[in-house]
Amino acid sequence: MSAARDILLAAVVAVAGGAALYYFPLDDVPAPPGPVEPGPGEPDPDPGPEPDPGPDPEPEPETEPEPDPDPEPDPDPSPGPLDPDGAVFAWAPPGELPTFDYRNNVDVANRSGFGWDGSDELSRNYVFAPDLTWPLDGPGYANTQVYRPGGQFSGVGGPGGSGECDARNFDYPWEDNFCERRGTSTRNPFCPNNAHGHHVGQDIRPQQCTRNFPLEERQMAVAVTDGYISSVASMTVRLRGDDGRTYWYMHLEHWDNCDLSQLTTPAQCSAANLPSVCERSALEVEAGQDVRAGDPIGRVSNWFGIGWSNGACRRSLTTDHLHFEIRDTIDPDGSFTASAVPVPPYSSLVTAYLRFIGADEADFPDWEEAEF
Ligand SMILES: [Zn+2]
Repeated sequence: MSAARDILLAAVVAVAGGAALYYFPLDDVPAPPGPVEPGPGEPDPDPGPEPDPGPDPEPEPETEPEPDPDPEPDPDPSPGPLDPDGAVFAWAPPGELPTFDYRNNVDVANRSGFGWDGSDELSRNYVFAPDLTWPLDGPGYANTQVYRPGGQFSGVGGPGGSGECDARNFDYPWEDNFCERRGTSTRNPFCPNNAHGHHVGQDIRPQQCTRNFPLEERQMAVAVTDGYISSVASMTVRLRGDDGRTYWYMHLEHWDNCDLSQLTTPAQCSAANLPSVCERSALEVEAGQDVRAGDPIGRVSNWFGIGWSNGACRRSLTTDHLHFEIRDTIDPDGSFTASAVPVPPYSSLVTAYLRFIGADEADFPDWEEAEF
């Protein structure tokens, strides 16, 4: 355990005086800074998923995702219909456990229109993957990585800069960013405003800003369930669970000790050539490998592939985070779909995290009845 985590635990133990579920006003939460246009030449830090590979076996996607063609946020960010007072739901477990606060899962509305609002058949708090193992080997912070400091729309630095290490990024409360506004390419049946594209996963920061850390000191992403690695693409690892769902891990560190100067032309500057100029894979898994819940997958990173810029082949950057998706064959009306779609992961991750920090399941929120 790192010294930093010791400090974290010491700090939170100091405030986790007793068991309580309580509300406190949104004013206590640092507001994310206003969005701005990204600077020219900056890579899109998180364009959403790579192309949907379709049914298993999942083929290796051929191309990098397109940069976000329409990064300007919604000019009319309507408040969410189910969060009129911006309440924050807080979990303060007893004993030597971290305080864990999380905002409700439609607060994304403040940035993108509306989040998943439920249907007649499925509560907006429906837990799609109830038995998930928390996907990191330590604490983490679920929040938006593009609308917070260091993010594309944050106005505070950019990916790879000091802005992303702002303390506000590494703190509770968690916030949902499924359905967050992105480019025009990604639609999702769970996102009610389909006039624009959506972010169809959850961004999760590691417990501290590790952008300059050596590989072995970065936080490990772990398997969320038993299954096998169905594919390893240029920046995505997919886990096909025995539960029938597929889990996507993006931006893990994929390669170690690379010499990109050997790739001297734009054509050579391709992910396909990385095996020849890198010492080894930085991942802990390879395609086809069986995994058990909790097994290491790879290190949380800012990996965004490579690209040719300013006359050289360079590493492209997003912020230091895990982009995590759950894909399931379920429609918002609860019916079966022929091909899997990204489903809202937030309530599943909250449930997994409560287990991770040692909360008693008897004290978990009753998601179906929860009032936020
Ligand atoms: Zn993301």
